[in-house]
Amino acid sequence: MNESLSNTGNFSTAAHKQALASITAAKQRSPFAVPEVCIVAVTKAFPVDALITGFAAGHRLFGESRVQEAAKKLPAFPERDQCRIHMIGHLQSNKAKQAIDLFDLIESVDSLKLFQRLDRLAGEAGKQMPIYLQVNTAHDEAKTGFSPGALIDSVDEFAAGRHTTVQGIMTIAPFAQDSDVIRECFGRARQLRDELRKSIPSCTDLSMGMSVDYELAVEEGATHVRLGSRLFGPRPDYHI
Ligand SMILES: *Cc1c(COP(=O)(O)O)cnc(C)c1O
Repeated sequence: MNESLSNTGNFSTAAHKQALASITAAKQRSPFAVPEVCIVAVTKAFPVDALITGFAAGHRLFGESRVQEAAKKLPAFPERDQCRIHMIGHLQSNKAKQAIDLFDLIESVDSLKLFQRLDRLAGEAGKQMPIYLQVNTAHDEAKTGFSPGALIDSVDEFAAGRHTTVQGIMTIAPFAQDSDVIRECFGRARQLRDELRKSIPSCTDLSMGMSVDYELAVEEGATHVRLGSRLFGPRPDYHI
């Protein structure tokens, strides 16, 4: 962990600069890397100051993990409307409506049932809701998300969504694995994005990589990396 980070949850400009430099270096190592990689600054578990200090440092894209937490925090963030806020945590179906109201994009659409519910509720809210489909590339029973097979099998259902726009794929790599395993997961997510894009042209984004593995993700073609502790320091205890 980087010395310039305190654990107050304030955005560290120095850590941000270092992350940008690492991303630049990772891009140069790989043919799959894309020219423009966006950092989603993950503010879950931190006070609203994380958002406020991030905004002051020029950052405009944030990630939150829980509907209830965001519902409390975002009204206390005066510049919220000048930012984009992604929902990145598992979304319970009874919070789907609130999530549509609160977030600019939902990254964690992990079942066909949730997709269809969001599509219906977005329609009722008169909104066009951008989403990512979360795929379980790690074959990890404990993680939510579509299996690669189920994702491809449901392409027609996704394409039929009228009030949701499938804008990409999101994945979480297995923890504490050797880098070959992680790289394989990220590569598989990229291939699935490419496959889906043939039927759904809007499906361009690839959200993968966290503080521990974002460089690998960039090498495998991530368009978005989700960084929490790398930018804000260690998180207080948190159960997703
Ligand atoms: C918490 C979280 C992150 C950020 O984790 P760090 O290790 O702090 O970078 C990224 N993605 C998801 C889905 C998360 O829940």
